[in-house]
Amino acid sequence: MPYYDYYCKSCQKPFSKVLSIDQHEKDRVRCPHCNGSDVEQRYSTFYAVTSKKSA
Ligand SMILES: [Zn+2]
Repeated sequence: MPYYDYYCKSCQKPFSKVLSIDQHEKDRVRCPHCNGSDVEQRYSTFYAVTSKKSA
């Protein structure tokens, strides 16, 4: 499952979620810290996680 990185603009904290593509398209992501929906998505961790698998 894809791993998504987010950043909350309300409380200025990063957080991450594991979501299926379907969930990611349909569900609105909320910040686990303040429950706000003013979040922006980041992609860095997704690539970091997948590249670690080749050991
Ligand atoms: Zn927040």
